Amino acid sequence: MYTWEIRIEGIVQGVGFRPRVFQLAHEQEIKGEIANGVEGVRIWFNAESDQAQAFYESILQHKPPLSHIVSSSLQASEARSFVDFQIIESETSGQKRLLVTPDYGICPDCRREINDESDRRFAYPFITCTQCGPRYSIIENLPYDRPWTTMAPFQMCPACLSEYQDPLNRRHFSQTNSCPACGIQLRLFGPDQQTVSVSSEAEIRQLVQHYWKKGQTVAIKGIGGFLLTCDATQEAAVQRMRERKHRPEKPFALMFPGLDSLHAYYLDADQIAALEGPVSPIVLIRKPPDSTLAPGIAKGLTEIGVMLPYTPLYQWLLQGYGQPIVATSGNIHQAPIVFRDEEAASLLDIADWVLTNDRRIVVPQDDSVLRFTTRQRQRIVIRRSRGLAPNYFATQVKMPKINLWAAGADMKSSFGLLHEGNVYLSQYLGDLSHYDTERSYQQVQQHLQSVLGHRPAVILHDQHPHYASTRLAQDMAREQQVPVHACQHHKAHFAAVLAENDLIEAADPVLGVIWDGTGLGEDGQIWGGELMVYANRAISREGHLAYFPVLGGDKMAQEPRLSALAILPEEPLCQQKFSLLEQQIYSQLRQKKPIQSSSMGRLFDAVASVLGVQDQQTYEGQAAMKLEALARAYWDQADVLPPPFPIVYHEKNLPTEALLQSLIAARPANNSAAYLSARFHASLIEWVRQSADRLQIKRIAFSGGVMQNAVLVDGLLERLGSEYELFFHQQLSPNDENISFGQMVLYLLAQQMI
Ligand SMILES: [Zn+2]
Ligand SMILES: [Zn+2]
Repeated sequence: MYTWEIRIEGIVQGVGFRPRVFQLAHEQEIKGEIANGVEGVRIWFNAESDQAQAFYESILQHKPPLSHIVSSSLQASEARSFVDFQIIESETSGQKRLLVTPDYGICPDCRREINDESDRRFAYPFITCTQCGPRYSIIENLPYDRPWTTMAPFQMCPACLSEYQDPLNRRHFSQTNSCPACGIQLRLFGPDQQTVSVSSEAEIRQLVQHYWKKGQTVAIKGIGGFLLTCDATQEAAVQRMRERKHRPEKPFALMFPGLDSLHAYYLDADQIAALEGPVSPIVLIRKPPDSTLAPGIAKGLTEIGVMLPYTPLYQWLLQGYGQPIVATSGNIHQAPIVFRDEEAASLLDIADWVLTNDRRIVVPQDDSVLRFTTRQRQRIVIRRSRGLAPNYFATQVKMPKINLWAAGADMKSSFGLLHEGNVYLSQYLGDLSHYDTERSYQQVQQHLQSVLGHRPAVILHDQHPHYASTRLAQDMAREQQVPVHACQHHKAHFAAVLAENDLIEAADPVLGVIWDGTGLGEDGQIWGGELMVYANRAISREGHLAYFPVLGGDKMAQEPRLSALAILPEEPLCQQKFSLLEQQIYSQLRQKKPIQSSSMGRLFDAVASVLGVQDQQTYEGQAAMKLEALARAYWDQADVLPPPFPIVYHEKNLPTEALLQSLIAARPANNSAAYLSARFHASLIEWVRQSADRLQIKRIAFSGGVMQNAVLVDGLLERLGSEYELFFHQQLSPNDENISFGQMVLYLLAQQMI
């Protein structure tokens, strides 16, 4: 008999790894021990060589479904003799290089038990097991063991403890284990902040459902923070929430009681799998025309964001209610999601009631958002947060062991860490132009850095000197006396999609189609409709939307009509959207040689304005989303995209003026906005095709917020997919959330480290 050691790294804690290995050891009559450590799990055992190899392979083959192995090894170890197989105390010293286990939605077994009257956890709203429940949101330190989580104050009762200790139980070593006798308590309070006294928890559910029925709003603490909820079929309730939240039109996400309550909706297998899976995100789906939903939920859009109850609490509350509820992040006008009990009372500005509980949340997270394109079923991550953050699974690109901290962008902020060869990418952290968001960003950053014991060797930030993320990065660099490195925004986007698709080593050049709202360019202008080429490990700019002036600064993004006027100042259709005084002001602004823009986001705005779709928008991306919905409606009916507008596509820059003019010229022929929007999308695709041919490139990668547009993605796949190799983001969102990752890749490329 020899002594062996197995080391496994990756997501291996909080997913039932130790109990699974325990079972396998038991089956194979292996004696030894297993422990969690700061690197992952380690196993020591006695066996003959063949038996050791077989045990090792069986672990890799039968790893728990939620685990993700990054690396593993089997080696001979110092001789020891074991009498049985045991799970031993975790090791807490050493360099931390664990992936952080994300929060998981309720599993099918727990879903069944919570509805089973004979189960001792019947109707217990905090039921969990090794296969589900909160993780990242309750971790204060690593390794993942109860004392380092916010479950620490809850003492397990004898029944829970015996499950915890029973190797054959699903809750063997389940750190979140609790039950009605020993677990988490709910607290409901109203406008006076006094706790509503109830005789049983069942009464709380009755009350919440009663409030919903009456059209009231209830703030509920879930996994990543509070959600604001109201009945989604009552227009008055929805409008009341809109008014109090100062959110006039931006769509609200919905939570349906169960999959069967979505029977009238068009769901395919991918959407169902996502809704029911461990991530349980918001999925964008088609709204049926005859839906009973309040019309104010997603005005002007054909899709709505839906999710299923991903925590037992929501499952329990919606039980028997029968209607979907609005379930939107509990924040006050663009501030970050409220997740602390101390701040819960502030939600009473919007909510009539607050339902909280006594388990603390350590880091705030919004719900993740996914969509699948209608025709090609391409998965697009719109927001990467609960269930997905803070890990990134490295692909073939081997990350060096330099510690980096990347600050990301500003509007859709996220930060990234390269730590001990692993990449960690934070959840979506909101718009940093708000002070509260900036504080929340710093807290999440400090938490993850302290959990991992991370100290960066270099700090990366966007080239934009006025981004809050740039300032935060520079402050941190000064404090820690670490060098900084600035990264161009669109090059970071491109680097991110290249690395995600293992194209860093590509021998042939890759065309990067990087389209978004804004980012500071190397020439001091605002870029955003960019064509770039990656060749010989360097990125160059090879084309863009023809420049137009930025009018009115930040106001331009809120008023699509300004983009139309910027591109076609002499066009009466654009002029008539302004008063004479305004026309004068903007004409003077123009003469002062304002900063120039090649933003694709602004081109979408201009098109929306000239088509009469939207002149002023109430939330970011509204005009573009409406254009997409119109183009989709046309495509659905015609089953084919219309031809591109007859303009020049093969020169370096796309003539934005000519494009907008041909669109206006096509209007008198009584062409519908839906047709013209589809034709506009087709024109952009044609530009990509002709640019690839001009540059003689066959591989094309796409990034930037515009790539959230499913019509564009479907169109690219259908029109270019057979002739070119197309690459899209996979784990990451195409929007600015991927900038932090791109900054790391860009830096490593520049340093010849990847
Ligand atoms: Zn479970
Ligand atoms: Zn218990």
